[in-house]
Amino acid sequence: MQIVINNEDEYLFRGKRKRLVEQLKEKGITDANVLNAILKIPRHLFFDESTARPALLDHAYSDKALKIGAGQTISHPFTVAFQTEKLNISRGDKVLEIGTGCGYQTAVLLEMGAKVYSIERQKELYDKTKLFLPRLGYRGAKIFYGDGYKGLPQFAPFDKVIVTAAAPYIPEELLKQTVIGGIIVIPVGEGAEQIMNVIVKKTENEYVKQEFGKFKFVPMLQNKNP
Ligand code: SAH
Repeated sequence: MQIVINNEDEYLFRGKRKRLVEQLKEKGITDANVLNAILKIPRHLFFDESTARPALLDHAYSDKALKIGAGQTISHPFTVAFQTEKLNISRGDKVLEIGTGCGYQTAVLLEMGAKVYSIERQKELYDKTKLFLPRLGYRGAKIFYGDGYKGLPQFAPFDKVIVTAAAPYIPEELLKQTVIGGIIVIPVGEGAEQIMNVIVKKTENEYVKQEFGKFKFVPMLQNKNP
């Protein structure tokens, strides 16, 4: 099944996306490729159907986290923009994403020309998003049902790694699976809020870490969930 985007809706939602992009700029996002991706992607189509009521659709372009099913949420647009900007994406970058969720962050990375490998531990979300992204025209992402703590050793190394769930610590495997010169963006913390960590791998065992502000994510959990 192909998703048909009604022209009138598209016009209305594009206007909303333009305003969202203006807000993201005001909040400090400057990477034009990130902003263009957000301007283009129909975020309102990524929600859990059971909660996608018109009132909620209206919120699709406000800077809010919203339900995507299986008790999970899609990150705030600012969080998506902030993490993606910190990844400093160039076309052709091989990116590992932990926490596919509804696939919105995956779509942003694809739109920017990255080669995306994404892992989701919730079977329900994995099944849904694996079908949904190609229907929306986002083909080419390799999506895996698995545990992000383990990364994807068979496809390593990655130029960039993005974790979109709250990690209690920085998983050793993810550091190992990053190229020298590569970047890892990961929210770290076990409380209600986490600190965004941006790590650059300098040599096989030297890393430079910078911390950026507080964010709220659902927890990064161990093992797959059937
Ligand atoms: N990038 C997503 C954000 C979804 S929220 C989006 O744009 O929608 C975080 C996701 O991380 C949830 O779907 C959750 O199930 C998943 N997750 C949590 N722990 C994980 C793990 N260890 N491995 C893979 N995915 C995980």
